[in-house]
Amino acid sequence: MAQTLTDKSEAPATHGKWVYLFEEGNAGMRDLLGGKGAGVAEMTQAGLPVPPGFTITTAACNAYYDAGQQFPNGLWDQAKQAMKDVEEKTGKQFGNPSNPLLVSVRSGAKFSMPGMMDTVLNLGLNDETTEGIARQSGNARFAYDAYRRFIQMFGKIVLDIDPDLYEHALEDKKQEAGAATDADLDVAALQQLVERFKAITREQFGRDFPTDPYEQLQQAIAAVFRSWNGERARAYRQSEGIPDDLGTAVNVQTMVFGNMGNDSGTGVAFTRNPSTGEAKLFGEYLINAQGEDVVAGIRTPKPISALHQEMPEAYQEFQDIATRMERHYRDMQDLEFTIERGKLYMLQTRNAKRTAAAAVKVAVDMVNEGSISRQEALMRVDPKHVVQLLLPRFDDQARQQAIDAGKLIASGLNASPGAAVGKAVFDADRAAEQGISGEAIILVRPETSPDDVHGMIAARGILTARGGATSHAAVVARGMGKPCVAGVESLRIDLGARTMTSNGNQVREGDVISIDGATGEVFLGEIPAISPRFSEERELAEILAWSDDIRRLQVWANADYPRDAERAREYGAQGIGLCRTEHMFFEEERLPIVHQMILSAEEANRLQDEVSTLEADAGQRGRQDGRAQEALQTARQRVQSSQAVRDYQDALRKLLPIQTQDFRGILQAMQGLPVVIRLIDPPLHEFLPSYDELIEEVTTLRIRGNDPSELKKKEHLLQTVAGMREQNPMLGLRGIRLGILYPGIIDMQVRAILSAAVQLQAEGVDVRPEIMVPLVGTANEMKTAKERIERVASEVLGESNADVHYKIGTMIEIPRACLTADKIAEDAEFFSFGTNDLTQTAFGYSRDDAEGKFLLKYVEMGILPTNPFQELDRDGVGKLMKMAVQAGRETRPDLEIGICGEHGGDPSSVEFCNSIGLNYVSCSPFRVPVARLAAAQAVIAEQTSRSETR
Ligand code: ADP
Ligand code: MG
Ligand code: MG
Repeated sequence: MAQTLTDKSEAPATHGKWVYLFEEGNAGMRDLLGGKGAGVAEMTQAGLPVPPGFTITTAACNAYYDAGQQFPNGLWDQAKQAMKDVEEKTGKQFGNPSNPLLVSVRSGAKFSMPGMMDTVLNLGLNDETTEGIARQSGNARFAYDAYRRFIQMFGKIVLDIDPDLYEHALEDKKQEAGAATDADLDVAALQQLVERFKAITREQFGRDFPTDPYEQLQQAIAAVFRSWNGERARAYRQSEGIPDDLGTAVNVQTMVFGNMGNDSGTGVAFTRNPSTGEAKLFGEYLINAQGEDVVAGIRTPKPISALHQEMPEAYQEFQDIATRMERHYRDMQDLEFTIERGKLYMLQTRNAKRTAAAAVKVAVDMVNEGSISRQEALMRVDPKHVVQLLLPRFDDQARQQAIDAGKLIASGLNASPGAAVGKAVFDADRAAEQGISGEAIILVRPETSPDDVHGMIAARGILTARGGATSHAAVVARGMGKPCVAGVESLRIDLGARTMTSNGNQVREGDVISIDGATGEVFLGEIPAISPRFSEERELAEILAWSDDIRRLQVWANADYPRDAERAREYGAQGIGLCRTEHMFFEEERLPIVHQMILSAEEANRLQDEVSTLEADAGQRGRQDGRAQEALQTARQRVQSSQAVRDYQDALRKLLPIQTQDFRGILQAMQGLPVVIRLIDPPLHEFLPSYDELIEEVTTLRIRGNDPSELKKKEHLLQTVAGMREQNPMLGLRGIRLGILYPGIIDMQVRAILSAAVQLQAEGVDVRPEIMVPLVGTANEMKTAKERIERVASEVLGESNADVHYKIGTMIEIPRACLTADKIAEDAEFFSFGTNDLTQTAFGYSRDDAEGKFLLKYVEMGILPTNPFQELDRDGVGKLMKMAVQAGRETRPDLEIGICGEHGGDPSSVEFCNSIGLNYVSCSPFRVPVARLAAAQAVIAEQTSRSETR
């Protein structure tokens, strides 16, 4: 802390100069001048018609806070000096009634931040200057309208007065004057309104409205500084991960007026269409209006193309400037302009926000137009865009029609992308019930908790009234890949009545709604959605093909079934990094066999172990020892006559062909590419009914007493389940521990894998199975497993006289495995980081408990920067991975290393995997395109930072 303080007080560069005239800045000064300031500076430099002004730096904002909310030394003098300069340029004077200069005061941080201070327009007006404007313009109505707007804005924004007070006074005045709209108020009415506004200000503020323009300016600047730490701004920064110490700049700019008559107007336009990317000017304008009228929606703006007819010269000039700006910034721009009596002024330019579709199209088009390089294009596409492009989305036209028909009832946070349509249901139990029976459901809750997860699983989408980007609903929905709109402030949910209302629209349970998790929009009724087809996303394919040329990491996919493997291949997967075999046990017709296997496993293994021990014993003592021979004989007979052994072997025998079929499917689908198959991992009780459920059933059967054989079966099951109960199943008998205790199961699995491989190879299919041992913590586990696998494999290969190339490796998911990776690598040909368990074991968190109880709170409080189950924790888990990579490759330089946790599809985690030299990342098929792009971006970022440090 002390360190930072000294650093700050010793930072001389920012001292002294707090104010930059527009012509002193440029686009490279975003840190100091904010986005808006850097933009107007760059336009000024380029000779565009920008109303003169100056920017007060972000450093001044920080200094203001350091000084206990006081302007730092020199700031006010420099601001006044800059005003003099602006006066000279414009030939007007601040506060001079005969030729008054008016300015706007605009906030502008480095990153555009909704939730920060609004802009104050027309600053510099008082009774005298208003009269001056009236005289000069010959338009008293215009002057007094500007004045009342100014008091209103200043009161609301700078003095923090409830804006409704002004609005009500305005409404009253309109009533009184019989005016339908603001525009119908005449000069006299506006003058009365001004007096009324002044009175409101006096009542609320306890002082007269400041009439001295310099006092107005000073207060407005301070208000912008203060807005940096306003509640909304802070919340926004937190959800977007924007640091709190950037500060905001303040722009003071000469006013130009779009509301001076029908030869004036104002508008916003994009150099291309921000929703489709089409290379054509796109925007709206209003004749005879001031800045915020376009957004306020009081009058319907016209499309920018109409300006072509209405003001051909201004249009042409604007068109030229737009083209120039885009070429200059080498990216699509979002421009604000105002036309005052036929003359065009530029007020803002910035890189345009865009939809996923537009981002991809613009990037590809600009490469084809020769304006940017492929690498730049790749950096312009956000990996999130790739996800969005492949999710269902609402038909553009249908969406617009719904908006026009007033069906857009609310807007919230775009918490998890995708479009969903369904019946609103207000509790998780009902959602689960109806969802499972095939109904399309949107689960609507004030907020969600772990108790709602079953309902979330069954729903098509989730809508909540509270909570931000890291709320339970948002995090869980993203994890599930389900659309979610969260934090819809206008939403009132009445759980008792099972209704919700927003802006006067009521929705009852069962009514159909549509939500768009990419935009945060909530609609009444059904909006048809389009499911994009990967093969038809031509521009995306181009971006991904360029990515493939650049990236080092391979991208594999996690897939348990052939259909998932096929989809993964279509999306560009170069292998299967995780094929989980236990899912295959859950299918209905297999479950009875699996139960039979588990119920007999323990006794069968105990009896067989006994034989093995006695065999070893007898071997040592030699054939002469009659007693040892006899004991062995008895044990063997016990095995032979044991029902448990018979059941166990019978179950495994039945499972073998089924699993062989499973593996055939996936190996065939991935022919020519590697397939990592993991041996059984979860604790066996996961395949059995729950303890509580069984207790209930047994009790009922006992009381009824009418089905003794069923009772006996259930009692046996209960006994087995009770015997398997563990305090911490996550840390209990699972993974290779299970494989070592019950080797019959993995013998069967290995046999199935190799049999499938042998069959396919005989049919001419190129198969590349890799057998993965889960949850290894010690080198001896690996060694034991490897010997067992090799023995079975050579049996199978020997039987069929075939030679299949296969690998044996392990999942690295326990810290101890990372620490002893050099030893483990002696028996493992590949490593695959299972970063879900590795994160659990490194932090000592159980994920479900953590996410349900404290993890989100930790993120909110800043104790953890992000959820480590979504974004790899580089400092801890990452360090372990790095060690494992190094140690493993020391033993075995050609060790193949990948990651198969969910992290494999998270861009930041992909970047990390690239940096520590993994061979591949493996993720869900859906995220394969994301990972392809992220892997390329990682390489480009690496090259950029290298050339920067040079
Ligand atoms: P935001 O960050 O919300 O876009 P701006 O500072 O850009 O806020 O201003 C809000 C509106 O006021 C915009 O339409 C802008 O064009 C207009 N505006 C800002 N400064 C001036 C000015 N000096 N003259 C005329 N209009 C202005
Ligand atoms: Mg703003
Ligand atoms: Mg703006």
